[in-house]
Amino acid sequence: MTESCRVCKSDHAVAKHAFAATTLYRCPACGLWFCDPVVRVESPSSGPSSILTDDGYSDMLLRGTPTQAKRYATLALRRYQSYCKILGRSTFSMFEIGCGAGELGAEFMKLGVDYHGMNIDTRIVESGQRRIGNRIRQEDFFQMEIDRQYDVICFHQVLEHITEPRLFAERVTECSGQGGAVHGDVPSMTGLSALLHRIVPLNQRRFGAIILPHHQFAYEPKTIQHLLGRAFRLKTFDVKIDDPTWGQVNELSCAIWAYSAISGVLNAGTNLAFIGKRMELQ
Ligand SMILES: [Zn+2]
Repeated sequence: MTESCRVCKSDHAVAKHAFAATTLYRCPACGLWFCDPVVRVESPSSGPSSILTDDGYSDMLLRGTPTQAKRYATLALRRYQSYCKILGRSTFSMFEIGCGAGELGAEFMKLGVDYHGMNIDTRIVESGQRRIGNRIRQEDFFQMEIDRQYDVICFHQVLEHITEPRLFAERVTECSGQGGAVHGDVPSMTGLSALLHRIVPLNQRRFGAIILPHHQFAYEPKTIQHLLGRAFRLKTFDVKIDDPTWGQVNELSCAIWAYSAISGVLNAGTNLAFIGKRMELQ
């Protein structure tokens, strides 16, 4: 028997695809796609409640180029403007779960944001600390002590690695200050690349946005609403990877680009993004 859905606890998940090592299910109630059993691989980027990040993606975060730096500055400025609009003010604190090597953080700090980031992977953290010091900490989000609240909580390309999404959402809500905002994204299950990989079996380890062993969970808009919609008034939307506000930094060197394309780590199409404001407690 399949385990219950990790987002809504429904027991009616339907098998959608058989990999050699696991089976992919979809929960019709909330739209979560999940692998059962979870395929575990030890890595500096994995923890008790999270599965590893592709090394190609981590390498990309560690190797900044001038083109990427420019793109980080644009993303930070445009997101800063959007966050100001949601919060109704121009000074705020921010916490990034699964942050990169400080490039985005450094840009937010230049804009006056009280930025703090954490990552489980010591390689990313050491590189980030060289850039912005103790604003980046090595922590497992599930185990860290929550000792303060932030105005903006963000997590990009994180949920697809999380094995305990309900606990993750609870802790995000605990970290979020009154009237605060949440922002994040996941690979889209309905993006062009994901659809292609569902129709044509190009890669034995891939089905839609699921890529073994790195992405074993995929979200639909209603899954995001189910998970975070009780605490946040959310909007979900598709974004292209090169969107100037909500996209990813993906100007890669040729070698890493080829590696990423082959391993399928970059969804090379669209992400499902979400942004919203904390609902006031009654
Ligand atoms: Zn469900």
